[in-house]
Amino acid sequence: MHMKTADQILVKQINKMIVLNTIYRKCPISRADIAKVTGLNKSTVSALVDELFMEELVLETGIGESQGGRKPVNLSINKDVGHIIGIDLGVNYILSVMTNFAGDIVWEKRVDLQATQKFPVQRIADLEDLIQETIMHAPQSVRGIMGIGIGVPGIVNYEQGLILSAPNLAWENIALREIIKERFGIPVFIDNEANAGAIGEKWFGAGKKADNLLYVSAGTGVGAGIIINNELYRGFKGLAGEIGHMTLALDGIPCSCGNTGCWEEYSSEKALFRFMKEHIKGETLTIFDVLERAAGGDELARAAFRYVGKYLGVGVANLINAFNPQLVIIGNTLPLAGDILMDELRREAAMRCFSSRHFNVRILSSQLNMHACAMGAATLVISRMYALPVS
Ligand SMILES: [Zn+2]
Repeated sequence: MHMKTADQILVKQINKMIVLNTIYRKCPISRADIAKVTGLNKSTVSALVDELFMEELVLETGIGESQGGRKPVNLSINKDVGHIIGIDLGVNYILSVMTNFAGDIVWEKRVDLQATQKFPVQRIADLEDLIQETIMHAPQSVRGIMGIGIGVPGIVNYEQGLILSAPNLAWENIALREIIKERFGIPVFIDNEANAGAIGEKWFGAGKKADNLLYVSAGTGVGAGIIINNELYRGFKGLAGEIGHMTLALDGIPCSCGNTGCWEEYSSEKALFRFMKEHIKGETLTIFDVLERAAGGDELARAAFRYVGKYLGVGVANLINAFNPQLVIIGNTLPLAGDILMDELRREAAMRCFSSRHFNVRILSSQLNMHACAMGAATLVISRMYALPVS
């Protein structure tokens, strides 16, 4: 019997990934057009499509236009072959989305929690309850739940699925992947929420056409997901993007990380609330209260967003100077304020950016809005399915 070498198996897996990816991005598409787009020969494409068809990952979806001769059969992704769960584990909420194999959201639920509920045991129990509820709502499918992705507000050892430190949750060294995998018996992937947001925007949001982009998550804290040449940049130990803790002010405001003068102390919800509290005492506000006031024309709330927008712009200018991205996407809660925040941010960034005389970086607010992290978490699973399909 003819034995395949490891190289041959790898080449086949890579080609299969390329074919599945091409069907995902260009469907409906015929076998002949896949061969044209990928440069693979027609018999290779046919054999790989047959395998994908047997695995029920692709479907034949009708007849395409004939270009002389027999009309080609079009192929599409079998969207309903299985489902993926994406979790945004926030500081005071958990958002769960369930998508199909093409990344369309089919169910979602957000649970708001007290910020005081910071103890890992209680919060993990809340997380498990929400995952259980999501699974209960999964439509019947061939493969069931194909994976769970979780975005967390802290630094993560991505390979080990370990939360090293999440200062805003007061969590240290939590083996979250093992805990969730053990409970549900489903593959689990964990990443930092800004990395997840960047991947979400790249696959499904404002960053689809950009090869080099920065996603700045501005919410309870501030972090960035860095995409260079279409790949997430993780750094040496996976800790890149902790830009919320770059020093903006010497001897500045103390930060939860132990340092002082960190950027996020001036450009996150914390800064927004501090600004509001200096003027109105004794009121407990949520971010949504402040957003509502600003939208309703409240001058104090609008000034608070302009203040935070200005500081966000300062940090964004520093990032643009460092990375020369083609696009910066501002995500999480703060950009929900719209132009009040974004105009100030853009003005400040343009003014301070050294290279802005030579090129104009587009600075957009997130297209996925509050779904960016959860969709990105789901994409941690989805991208793997399209990268190395089960053979
Ligand atoms: Zn800090």
